[in-house]
Amino acid sequence: MHAKMEKHILFVDDSPTMRSSGSFCLRNAGYRVTEAVDGQDALQKLQSMKENDQSLSLIITDINMPQMDGITFISRVKETEFKFLPILVLSTEGEESVIEKGRAAGAAGWLVKPFQPEQLLWAVKKVVWPK
Ligand SMILES: [Mg+2]
Repeated sequence: MHAKMEKHILFVDDSPTMRSSGSFCLRNAGYRVTEAVDGQDALQKLQSMKENDQSLSLIITDINMPQMDGITFISRVKETEFKFLPILVLSTEGEESVIEKGRAAGAAGWLVKPFQPEQLLWAVKKVVWPK
């Protein structure tokens, strides 16, 4: 049997409301979504994906989170074999200095909350299937 390959996205945010609205939007558009509650949880999810040989197309992460913030999380991902995965930031932070930190850590894109579903999906498409 040949399973249909869905694009798999890791969605990281400490807010349950954001996780459910983000996941709802992405699942509605046909993506498979795994949720994580902060950077530390997300690193654990990545580790178990690796152990279970699961494919992953994209990470979407918040910045302000307990345990491990988004900038630290991005830097840590860049030290793993997931380093070539695109990482999109979805944050209330829109300050140029913070965005610059994200860029320096290796983020591929940045969206400021609150997000419009079509804006999120456009950004996801752009980084998941680059020209
Ligand atoms: Mg947050």
